[in-house]
Amino acid sequence: MAGPIRTLGEAARHNMALRIGCKACKRTADYLASDIVRFQPAGRGLEALRMVCKECGAREITVSAFELPRKRENEVVIWRPTVM
Ligand SMILES: [Zn+2]
Repeated sequence: MAGPIRTLGEAARHNMALRIGCKACKRTADYLASDIVRFQPAGRGLEALRMVCKECGAREITVSAFELPRKRENEVVIWRPTVM
């Protein structure tokens, strides 16, 4: 891994997943960066992603990128993004 991941496009290129956390209700959900990049600009910073919490509707989120464990991708729960 070369340096920190700053943008959605970088995360997608590295095949990373994103853990989105709602600041209001603390719910978290995992997404594939390569899924989200189909809906939002690749140059957008991770912290600037526009997501709406499905539980409480809040838009204040935290985002952290993480690498999927190799050969264990099926064990990681990945949420498919809905229309945002
Ligand atoms: Zn929430």
